[in-house]
Amino acid sequence: MAEGLAGSVEESLPKRVAEPVHGGRVACHECDLLLSVGGLSEGERAVCPRCGFVVSSRSRNGLQRAMAFAVAAAVFLLLANIFPFLSLETKGLESEMTLPKSIIDLYESGYSTIATLVLAFILLIPALVMGLVTALAVPLALGKNRPWLQPSARFLYMLNTWSMAEVFIIGVIVSLVKIGQMATVIIGISFWAYAAFTICFTAAVSSLDRLEVWDEIERLSS
Ligand SMILES: [Zn+2]
Repeated sequence: MAEGLAGSVEESLPKRVAEPVHGGRVACHECDLLLSVGGLSEGERAVCPRCGFVVSSRSRNGLQRAMAFAVAAAVFLLLANIFPFLSLETKGLESEMTLPKSIIDLYESGYSTIATLVLAFILLIPALVMGLVTALAVPLALGKNRPWLQPSARFLYMLNTWSMAEVFIIGVIVSLVKIGQMATVIIGISFWAYAAFTICFTAAVSSLDRLEVWDEIERLSS
């Protein structure tokens, strides 16, 4: 609430300093200080008074942006699975790799655990997270209460920790540098599609402010 906010709001950089409150309902992610954050307007952010961590930020049209990025991410993820990801060329031999084929190859080479982990962290969990973002953002943007809102929000913030799309794309880039010394690497359409997916995925999740989501769910269910 307004009385729970200290410091001035800068004109150029809308920022509010959240007030430490005994038994407050939000804990700072960085330093665990209990805070009271409320009444943020669009385009404002609340920062922790102790460590400066952004506890909550309410972007403009956050729900609509989350929806748009989630749909774009789903399209890019689909494309990433259809086209070649990489081609390797050495001594006249060419080998083409797609994302599903690389997982199947891992499985068939006896690395079933790694194949399962790759399938889960690179494809299934990110796809599920995008589904959950859409399932939350659409009803919230329309102001409609739906029975799946609460379980979806819980599941989304739990699962999101286990989504490793961006780690994967960085890993691929690092290994490309190594492989590039041994063979000619041709980057396929799927690589760019997956890179675009990672950007849209990150944008979708970050557009959906955790506190705003819970506030809206609370408001709609009361
Ligand atoms: Zn803090």
